[in-house]
Parts: sequence; structure tokens; C-alpha cells
Amino acid sequence: MKWILFLGALIGPSLCGREEFRGDQVFRINVRNGDEISKLNELVNSDNFKLNLWKSFSNLGLPVDILVPSVNLQPVEFFLKSQGLDYSVTIEDLQVLLDKENEEMQHNEEQERSSNNFNYGAYHSLEGIYQEMDSIARQFPDLASRVKIGHSFENRPMYVLKFSAGEGSRRPAIWLNAGIHSREWISQATAMWTARKIASGYGKDPAVTSILEKMDIFLLPVANPDGYVYTHTHNRLWRKTRSLHPGSSCIGVDPNRNWNASFAGGGASDNPCSEVYHGPHANSEVEVKSVVDFIQKHGNFKCFIDLHSYSQLLMYPYGYTEKKAQDAVELDKVARLAAKALASLSGTQYQVGSTCTTVYKASGSSTDWAYDNGIKYAFTFELRDTGHYGFLLPAKQIIPTAKETWLGLKTIMEHVRDNLY
Ligand SMILES: [Zn+2]
Repeated sequence: MKWILFLGALIGPSLCGREEFRGDQVFRINVRNGDEISKLNELVNSDNFKLNLWKSFSNLGLPVDILVPSVNLQPVEFFLKSQGLDYSVTIEDLQVLLDKENEEMQHNEEQERSSNNFNYGAYHSLEGIYQEMDSIARQFPDLASRVKIGHSFENRPMYVLKFSAGEGSRRPAIWLNAGIHSREWISQATAMWTARKIASGYGKDPAVTSILEKMDIFLLPVANPDGYVYTHTHNRLWRKTRSLHPGSSCIGVDPNRNWNASFAGGGASDNPCSEVYHGPHANSEVEVKSVVDFIQKHGNFKCFIDLHSYSQLLMYPYGYTEKKAQDAVELDKVARLAAKALASLSGTQYQVGSTCTTVYKASGSSTDWAYDNGIKYAFTFELRDTGHYGFLLPAKQIIPTAKETWLGLKTIMEHVRDNLY
């Protein structure tokens, strides 16, 4: 027995070292006016409560979700009640969900080892995802290839799957991005399902075939590999990169505030400890810089889609200003059609609008950068759900999410196909 424990300690440091969230709860707070927003801001910004903002204040007036550590449940509840804020508990014990997720993943890994098959209805390690990208490329050698576009801060490779059915290296192209925020696991999983859908659809599915006849698709399923590994080994709720900052003990940059689009403007923080820290300068994160360099060198991208979670939103530029983008009317129309197509599968409702007017001001984001650099069709998806599970969306929802998202993606890509500029 002692030996088993000892072995467990040796082979399982990843699990032993993972942060526990026993008894931690997610609170959903309905903010009804500016006064309530400032009260809630006071709570969220107080260092004493160690709160983690899951879903921030939004211009649509959506509720705010915050993770409250078990030790601070009482004082936080006291604060909310004394200020007359309306709240409910959406997750009673975060660790229960984490334990379940872990158990399912381990069980799936065992099954995959014996069957040698990638289960698209399960969450995977970075290694598992990279292996499957390789096997898609090997299975469809005439269409797909795995391309290394750079490396992460901790020197992990960054791979994209390139789908190309034509000649030439600078055909009009679509960039599909996922996992820039590492804890949003449904985004990486949806990207992988999408990769398989594209690979197996070419020559069979008329939509996939016609899109690929005109354009190449580049798909980056894990835009933040270090963060993703960290969510498996240390802290499931890690959002940022893992870069170091001289003079601060806090780690990482929000890679979706690090792009050169109104960098360091509203909706980003200059505090390295913040979840929305923009970094020392634009493109300071090698993960962001790798994508920027690749896209600029290619020079013919027409569409950039970034997958996040959660909230069920489909947004277009701008995030850094409430001013309308020049193409706002067209982008809004396309986004509404995409949201309608998405909802047609199982009724999942998305809200549509520009990032700034729908959620909040956010500078330095990927899709604003894309748009300002001539990639007109720039969209951000916030996938399922609306907060019942939040970032801990159960694996059994992966395929339903990916399938409905595909209908939205397809609508956008078909529009790009028919409106090449
Ligand atoms: Zn995100």
C-alpha cells in the first residue's frame, strides 16, 4: 500500500500539484444600475476577498459571475446582502465539477490507449491534441498538413493545421483561432472537432468542398499552449500566458489584450497581477507574435475567427471603441445569419453585436487587430454555456457545441467565399 502511494506520488505529480477549489462557489449577481455596478466593482477590486471574475460587467446587462473561495463565502455574502445586491449561487462546489472532469478524462485516456482512437467527445492534454493533429495530416496528406508557426514562452511548439486543396502558398485564407484563454476548454475541443469535420468533409460535403476550392483554412486549436498545460497540471482556471515579468511575482499576460490594436487602451490593465494584464508592449507574448508574423508574411487572410467561452455571444469589431466599424452593417448581418444557423440545430441562443457594445471595452484583442490589418471578416465566438457550468462545461456537451458552432462557422465562411475582396 505504501508503495502504491509512493508510486502515485511519483507518477501523479500533475494531479497532486493541482490547485484545489473545495467548497468554492460561483455567484451570479444581477446588476441593475450604475450604483450596483460600482458597489460590485468595490467588491471585485478588493484584494481581501481573492475573487476570480468569470464573467465581467457587460453592456447588455448580463449577470456577473464570480468565483468565491470557500474561506470568503461568509464575508462576500454579507457584503452582497448589506448592499442589497441580487445574487444566486450557480456552482455550489467547484471541486465537485473538477473531480468529475478529471475522472472522465482519465477514464477516456485509458480507453483511447486501448482503442487507439481520439474521442472527440472528450477533453485532451496538449500532447493528445498535437498527436491527433498529426494523425489528421497523415490521414489526409493531399489536403491537410501540420505546420509549426512558432513556439511558446516555455518553448512548446505551436502547430496549425493547414487545409489546402489548391496550388500556391498565398491563396485567400481563413484563420480559425482557439484556446487563446487556456481555461476555455470547449474552444480547443470545438476546434479539434472542426478540424476533423473539414478534413473528412472535403470532396463529400458540398459546403466544405466549395469553401476549400476558393480558400485555404488555417486552424490553430491551442493558441496558448503553456497556459493550456498549466490548466491540466496546476490550476484549471488559468487564463493567461506563462511569461515572467521582472520585478513582479505575478505570471502571464492576457494574450487577448496583447495585440497591436489600441494597445493598453480601455479594458486592459497595466498590473501584471491582473487577469487582463496587457503585457509590457504589443506582441510581447511570443504566442501572439508568432500568429501575427505568420499572418503578415502570408498576406492574404480574409477572415479571422477567434473561439472563446463562455456566454453564447457572436461579436465583431470593435472592442476598443464604441465607434462603429466601417463594415459594421455587413458584419452584423453575417453574424446574425450565423447565429440563426447555429440555433437551428438545438435552439442554442446567441446574442450578436460589436464587442464593445455587447460586452465591454477590450483593447488589444485579436479580432480588432485582424480587422485593422485588412482582414474584414473578423469574429469572436463566446461558446456555451451562459454560466450554469461556465468554464467547466461537461465533456458530453463538446460534440453538441461543436456541431452547432460549425453551422455558424460555415455560414461565415460561405459568406467570405462569396464575397472575396
Ligand atoms: Zn476568452
